[in-house]
Amino acid sequence: MDDAEKKGGKINSMRTNGKRVVTRLNEIYQCGKKEDGTYTRMAFSAEDIKGRKLFASWAQELGMNVRMDEGGNLIARMDGQNNDLPAILMGSHLDTVPDGGKYDGVLGCVGALEVCETFKAEGYIPKHPIEVIVFTDEEGFRFGKGLTGSSAVCGRDAGIQDSESDIYGEERGHVMQSYGITSEGVKNAARDPESVYCFVELHVEQGARLYRTNTSIGVVSSIAGVNRYEITVAGEANHAGSTAMADRRDALVAAAGFINKVPEVTTEYGNEFTVATVGTIKVTPHSVNVIPGTCTFSLEIRDTDAEVMSLVEQKLQETLGDICKSYGVSYTFVPTSFHEPAPMSEWVKENIVNAVKELGIDYCVIPSGAFHDSLIMTSVFRTAMIFVPSEKGISHSRYEYTKDEDVENGCNVLLQTILNIDRD
Ligand SMILES: [Zn+2]
Repeated sequence: MDDAEKKGGKINSMRTNGKRVVTRLNEIYQCGKKEDGTYTRMAFSAEDIKGRKLFASWAQELGMNVRMDEGGNLIARMDGQNNDLPAILMGSHLDTVPDGGKYDGVLGCVGALEVCETFKAEGYIPKHPIEVIVFTDEEGFRFGKGLTGSSAVCGRDAGIQDSESDIYGEERGHVMQSYGITSEGVKNAARDPESVYCFVELHVEQGARLYRTNTSIGVVSSIAGVNRYEITVAGEANHAGSTAMADRRDALVAAAGFINKVPEVTTEYGNEFTVATVGTIKVTPHSVNVIPGTCTFSLEIRDTDAEVMSLVEQKLQETLGDICKSYGVSYTFVPTSFHEPAPMSEWVKENIVNAVKELGIDYCVIPSGAFHDSLIMTSVFRTAMIFVPSEKGISHSRYEYTKDEDVENGCNVLLQTILNIDRD
């Protein structure tokens, strides 16, 4: 056996320490402990900063160089054999939704650090420098817009202003002082595309496909696009006591007829991954004794295929038209936002699939219905995602749970993927 073979053997037997990862997931979770008994690390909050400091301390103990860019992204860098080569990026986010779980985002950060720790323990120096990135405000519930750090890295307008207020009435400019950053400065975090070899994000699925099929790893094919619409059905407000049933033009009844049809139409014209949701609704005049004159509601369509999305949109609009006609009411159907589906990089995906096969772990290829920093990253860098199962598909909740062995499998797949990419 020559030196290269020996090295190859060692590389293929390198494994992450699942126990350490699980311990660290718990430690970061504890940073979010609040007086009301919940665990929350809202972006820019004291709990979030506590978690970031702990994370940074682990990276520093490994001898990694830790910095924060002007977008507030925490970046830990490990030297490679040739530091002139573009860096391999891994990471995710540490911020959570209120009363969130232990795994969403955190796994991708802690798992990435674990890969570096394993390299160090094994005395393995990758060819490329490796960077672990903790993105700023992925969840976005506080200001109603997320993916702030990844947008900044990609040089995309994060659409933020110091003067805007969060849901608690606090100004962004003030809130972001906790990181020492400003809305104006965020754009300076844009990375030269040449400085990044690729980006890999390990994440919990947040859906139930892997759990239900008892599959260990999901290789993400694409992040679903999201189209949103505001629909208003206009009928006639009238007295609820003196208007006979036959004389009514009830906007809510017509809207309800349409909403009831949304699942059927979506299933008929979409594929197994297509979803459509009516999530908000309001009526005017909103009174117990008045027939609703107008009913305004949201409609959201998600799929990984833009053509399927537009077909479902067209069929839903036709259905709405037919129903409104039969009730003698009118409607408007206004697009409010549009996010195209984001396919993952074939080359990174291939490296993940090879890693899974080398490790002898079962896997399937699945789309992501939820948004992730990878959605933005893929617009500039070669990007792909590794999913591990979420028990019962629960996420954004204290009941979020991923089995220890799935955590360990995910980290080992990430490790093997990085090794494959580094040697490519
Ligand atoms: Zn997440």
